[in-house]
Amino acid sequence: MSLTADAIVVGAGIMGGSIAFELAKLGLVVVVVEKGGAPGHGSTSASSAIIRFNYSTRDGVATSWEAKHCWEAWSEHLGCADEYGLASFQQTGMIVLDTPITPRERAIALFEQVGVTYEEWDAASLRARIPGIDARSYWPPKRIDDDAFFHDADHEIGGLFMPDAGFVNDPQLAAQNLITAAQRSGATLLLNRTVTKIIQRDERVAGVELSNGEEIESPVVINAAGPWSGQINRMAGVGAEFTIGVRPLRQEVHYVQAPPGFNADGALGPSIADLDLGTYIRAAADDKIMIGGTEPECDPLDWIEDPDESNPSVTASCFERQVTRAARRLSTLGVPITPKGVAGVYDVSDDWQPIYDRTDLAGFYVAIGTSGNQFKNAPLVGRFLATLVESVEAGHDHDEEPLHYVGEHTGNEINLGAFSRKRPFNATTSGNVMG
Ligand SMILES: Cc1cc2nc3c(=O)[nH]c(=O)nc-3n(C[C@H](O)[C@H](O)[C@H](O)COP(=O)(O)OP(=O)(O)OC[C@H]3O[C@@H](n4cnc5c(N)ncnc54)[C@H](O)[C@@H]3O)c2cc1C
Repeated sequence: MSLTADAIVVGAGIMGGSIAFELAKLGLVVVVVEKGGAPGHGSTSASSAIIRFNYSTRDGVATSWEAKHCWEAWSEHLGCADEYGLASFQQTGMIVLDTPITPRERAIALFEQVGVTYEEWDAASLRARIPGIDARSYWPPKRIDDDAFFHDADHEIGGLFMPDAGFVNDPQLAAQNLITAAQRSGATLLLNRTVTKIIQRDERVAGVELSNGEEIESPVVINAAGPWSGQINRMAGVGAEFTIGVRPLRQEVHYVQAPPGFNADGALGPSIADLDLGTYIRAAADDKIMIGGTEPECDPLDWIEDPDESNPSVTASCFERQVTRAARRLSTLGVPITPKGVAGVYDVSDDWQPIYDRTDLAGFYVAIGTSGNQFKNAPLVGRFLATLVESVEAGHDHDEEPLHYVGEHTGNEINLGAFSRKRPFNATTSGNVMG
């Protein structure tokens, strides 16, 4: 064995960066192994990085609300500067349009419990606050080649507005910032190194083997490999005990010119979660907007076997579908001929909730199943994993007696058992990227 560590983190995405940072702050000798050439070049680089709070569980809402406070005070969270510059949180607000799968009453009840600020908007408020919006309901979403897509709507739509929502301007830079902070706390980053084997001895983790034949010895290994997480779990031989599986899903996000008035008077327009038509919309730099999808039932899902084989280019068909839907909502939006955008891969869990947990292999932990909706929670995920590693390695039985984390900013208690690999399948989640 050439290197030894107290903990190895597989993957230098937003999750791996945050986990490494928090473990290094505990005083552990941390090594991060990343097969790419820089931090944040995996699925994090394609992220829309929207910060919002409407999850279907109380612990999901409490996590995102606490994490928002970390993004707002990013340099304090990191505790250091970064020669690459710092990512920044842009507060724009976000409106979640009412649909049967985004029930307003449930969100309000959870927001009240957690302390999330909100406003209820009717169709008139929507029209007043978002120039050019079509405030009618088209539910359920339809394919754009279905005649019914263009049928008139007969009733109006409202929604739940989160004034504190927004986005992080550069998700890749945010991952770099966490790695820089981890390095300042003593962590080592190994780039262009691929983990090919999880070494085990005496029924527990003993380290990892890399594709160049190097070995790193460590009693703790954390799988933060994003859409590659299933591959790493298979190397460790874990998964049989999981009640929740994970699978890579290819997704596209498209860029078009913002419609007139969307970004008015120097202020960026609010994000729109439009599950009524099957899209989400976010302001972007240079008076652009980003348009993503919300997995409407009428669309095929692009499940893939190997994230390395995923088509990295956007496709004309997905571009047309998502931008046409956005143009139905924002009536002055143009649909350009040439597709522009990014393609990325989600690490989707069966119930679209993440898995932050130990496993039945002693010393092997997972921060996986982030389902296209966990970028925002990364600052806390590092703290969750640090709490788990510290307590479980000291002998605590997290499966029997789930650990709790108390938010430094909000004081909210978060039950880490909610993210268990052995939780009952949660049939009440949105069943899509909303989580
Ligand atoms: C298109 C898109 C839009 C999204 N939008 C949002 C959003 O608006 N809001 C939100 O909260 N979330 C969003 N997400 C989700 C969020 O971005 C992800 O949950 C998050 O970035 C995942 O980070 P990660 O560190 O787990 O994975 P990654 O960033 O993929 O990092 C995993 C790393 O592991 C490395 N790796 C893999 N295998 C190995 C190996 N064998 N050896 C060494 N290294 C390895 C990879 O190279 C990679 O760098 C979006 C995701 C996508 C794809």
